[in-house]
Amino acid sequence: MKALLTITLLVQSFCLFAQKVTISIFNDTRLNTILLTPMQGSYNLMFADTIVTVKPNQIIYISRQGDSVLVRDENCSYGLYSRVTLVGNSGDDVFRLKPVIPAKPARLYDDNITFYVEYDRLMAVNVIDTEKYIAAVVLAEAGPGKEDELYKAQALLVRTYTLTHTTKHQSEGFNLCDEEHCQAYKGRTEKFQDILDAVMDVKGLIVVDSLNRPITAAFHANCGGQTANSEDVWISELPYLRSVRDPYCTSARNARWERTIPITEWKKFLAAQGVDTAQATRNDMNFNPKNRPRFYPVMGINIPVTAVRKHFRLRSAWFSVNVAKTEVRLSGRGYGHGVGMCQDGALAMAQKGWDYEQIIKYYFKGVSIVDVSKVAIDKDKVDSLKLQPFEAVETLPFLNFIP
Ligand SMILES: [Zn+2]
Ligand SMILES: [Zn+2]
Repeated sequence: MKALLTITLLVQSFCLFAQKVTISIFNDTRLNTILLTPMQGSYNLMFADTIVTVKPNQIIYISRQGDSVLVRDENCSYGLYSRVTLVGNSGDDVFRLKPVIPAKPARLYDDNITFYVEYDRLMAVNVIDTEKYIAAVVLAEAGPGKEDELYKAQALLVRTYTLTHTTKHQSEGFNLCDEEHCQAYKGRTEKFQDILDAVMDVKGLIVVDSLNRPITAAFHANCGGQTANSEDVWISELPYLRSVRDPYCTSARNARWERTIPITEWKKFLAAQGVDTAQATRNDMNFNPKNRPRFYPVMGINIPVTAVRKHFRLRSAWFSVNVAKTEVRLSGRGYGHGVGMCQDGALAMAQKGWDYEQIIKYYFKGVSIVDVSKVAIDKDKVDSLKLQPFEAVETLPFLNFIP
């Protein structure tokens, strides 16, 4: 009975959470001053117990003054506050942010934003409808002007990640950051409707494994013709992250790469792996794998290809090695870690008429696509995934006065 109650509460958490997510934006920047401009919809500015209506295109200066936020416009100062929030009222509200100190390009965002001072900087936390956030991440990850079915497949992966990582920044008071650490999020664009429509077509859907648990929703730019097993790149062996052949991405721009490395550098690396480089011949070091390799074998020593990739910052861990007199020529395949969905392959499949379900099930074995409200998660799994989204949102006091 207790277990059932726990499951019910967690399912409810997902439903409640499905409405808003809090994202720290310009998270990698030590913000001091930013210009805030309502672009679409109708907005109020809230600070302490004051509510001010702001007009479209009105420029509001938000800057840090010690531990407080200074708010002013062209005509007057509104004063110093510990927290300032811009709240949209129309449900279709868009604002623009232009960092001034330090200077950065302007970006457009949906819904609401709150400012406060913490970590010796001005914090800017976007409080946004989860589906709109997902659409913006899909835009950042897949780019504009692509096929709808690619956007839908990408949306399922982004949503699966989002709903299982909402406590990633809980101790800092928001759900996720806008960096690759969580998911790349650079706001929206003006021509955004096709992505938003595709995301809404698969609203609430996530990908689960054979035990109905949200998957590790991995993806990468290009697999080079064969994806990787999860354990080839990370530690855990996951039954749905199996290596598959992918003939669909091999003519894309990112399918191949070349790199030349001085032989002294290469030998230095090999020596650090325990190879007796004084004895190693050219043949010992040459390498020409037909399939995606796990190791680069040199004189009986198996060097993980992921270690080579990391050391030389290679585009992928699938490469051949040709040793010349003074240099080593690497010919590589793919771009990224190679696990899960290959974006170039998925795009080619979508162009051929595959739907999002066919795409997802090609790259993830034995998975199902389900509505998040149908996902019952046992407590142990929840603990390991750190799924407490409702708590994460509830701890943010400014949500209380959002209509
Ligand atoms: Zn993060
Ligand atoms: Zn591929």
